[in-house]
Amino acid sequence: MPYLEVDDLHVGYGQIAALKGVSLSVEKGQLVTLVGANGAGKTTLLRTISGLLRPSRGSVNFDGQRIDAMEAHKIAGTGLVQVPEGRRIFGRLTVSENLELGAFTRNDKAEIMADKERMMTVFPRLKERFRQLAGTLSGGEQQMVATARALMARPKALLMDEPTMGLSPIMVEQVFDTIQTIHAQGVTILLVEQNALMALSVADYGYVLESGHIVLEGQGDALVDDERVRHAYLG
Ligand code: ATP
Repeated sequence: MPYLEVDDLHVGYGQIAALKGVSLSVEKGQLVTLVGANGAGKTTLLRTISGLLRPSRGSVNFDGQRIDAMEAHKIAGTGLVQVPEGRRIFGRLTVSENLELGAFTRNDKAEIMADKERMMTVFPRLKERFRQLAGTLSGGEQQMVATARALMARPKALLMDEPTMGLSPIMVEQVFDTIQTIHAQGVTILLVEQNALMALSVADYGYVLESGHIVLEGQGDALVDDERVRHAYLG
């Protein structure tokens, strides 16, 4: 069985059907990218996987357990962690304090300190800003704090919802570098991105979501070269 498996997922908001039978899977250690136009249902899918929305049909399995009826905090407890949007960090706390909050479910103090140090090598930009209030960081730096905070929970898998949203091209590159570093360290990642071609080019595997259906899937680099993807995302 795949590490993360979504099978025939149907999710709606009242009468509006947002996901109409979505199936996808992520193997352990893989970086899988999901792309799709505005309103395709990408956020709905991630929110359902992390337990914030309930499907009307279908199932989600993670690491050998069925999780689609579990409460969100229990799902996070299984090691499947959603990276909050950059704007959702604690602006009045320092970078360092934000990272400590990411480890709140752990009580191995020495290890937590070691992980904090490790984050400084993954995110050198945060090193110089360790004591700075997170709310005064740039958008890209705040996204790094959000990602680092999620990693402090020592997740088995990360769900990332448009981590480059609103960032300048240079910052986008930095966030992608970070994602590749984390992937190289063995963390399983399901990434939702608007920067479709860039996100597919770093992915092991990719899916294209359209109006609540998966319409295309394949190896990341194969999708980058696919006529239909190029047409949809290069205009
Ligand atoms: P974007 O890239 O614009 O963020 P998305 O692919 O993440 O889009 P979703 O946010 O999952 O798309 O939305 C999927 C569909 O569900 C859309 O048609 C949207 O209007 C609808 N939808 C999302 N949230 C709600 C809600 N709370 N109530 C009603 N409809 C909703």
